[in-house]
Amino acid sequence: IAMYRAKEAGNNSVQFFKNEAHETLSKNMKIESALRQAIEKKEFILHYQPLVDLNNQTIIGVEGLIRWNHPTLGIIPPSEFIPIAEETGLIIPISEWVLDAACQQIQQWQDSGLPPNNIALNLSPYLFEIDGLVETIQRMIQQYEIKPKLLELEITESIMQDPDRALFILKELKSLGVSLSIDDFGTGYSSLSYLRRFPIDTLKIDRSFIEDIKNDDGVLVETIIMMATNLGLNVIAEGIETKEQLQFLMDVSCPIGQGYLFSRPIPGEDIPNLFQKL
Ligand code: C2E
Ligand code: MG
Ligand code: MG
Ligand code: MG
Repeated sequence: IAMYRAKEAGNNSVQFFKNEAHETLSKNMKIESALRQAIEKKEFILHYQPLVDLNNQTIIGVEGLIRWNHPTLGIIPPSEFIPIAEETGLIIPISEWVLDAACQQIQQWQDSGLPPNNIALNLSPYLFEIDGLVETIQRMIQQYEIKPKLLELEITESIMQDPDRALFILKELKSLGVSLSIDDFGTGYSSLSYLRRFPIDTLKIDRSFIEDIKNDDGVLVETIIMMATNLGLNVIAEGIETKEQLQFLMDVSCPIGQGYLFSRPIPGEDIPNLFQKL
């Protein structure tokens, strides 16, 4: 479409669009080859963001979030490389690294008698399209002797596009004993019937709803919390940045929250300190 419109506007703009597409392509290829090296050299780190019980303001767990610690560019956020990792299949070794690092971290906290014991991790929808996801997670749990229920796997609604396959894999994951959350809830697939049919434990209300909570989205947030509670699901509000947002969420009995108001994602070694402070 862009090419067609550009043609209408004249030859120069055709050239412009071609160059832009070319630049994006070669930029992505550069990122891809840098990513391959990053995997080999293990240039990734996990940061952890606390999940907070809103009733008594205690930390009940953490979410592990990947960063690419690039030797010259510094810390690169997941939004910059996860999409390319998904397109190229590199998401598979990267996800294995994440699982391994997180399980190692849980084991370390467990052994030192420090909380937190449980970690939430993001699973790319791409991993549902290939074989071996369940086996890999099972292997990690066994290798690090993790209590499976301490591992909370976050998936997005997009996997429901293939509901039969999604249900099959979710049931297998569930049989390992792990917990399952729907991340960014409210932004994806619109049929809600999967909430009853699928073995889901927790809904994480997307940050965009919390951002606008004082306005129109407040009633949506309240309704999601009521619905989740009535379905016997746990609820987490993502992206709490202000005291006003926190107050609103407490007023509508939201049990758990996450956001910059409590803490940004931080390195694992700083997490035990946070427990002492909060
Ligand atoms: P997500 O799973 O929804 O994670 C929450 C994101 O919101 C994180 O961004 C977190 O830093 C940010 N956030 C938390 N509280 C606040 C807040 O109060 N305000 C604002 N503005 N932002 C907040 P991050 O770490 O950049 O991660 C972005 C996304 O990248 C994640 O969204 C997740 O979808 C993906 N991601 C992160 N780590 C992994 C991973 O290990 N594997 C995969 N497949 N995806 C990952
Ligand atoms: Mg998440
Ligand atoms: Mg989210
Ligand atoms: Mg997300």
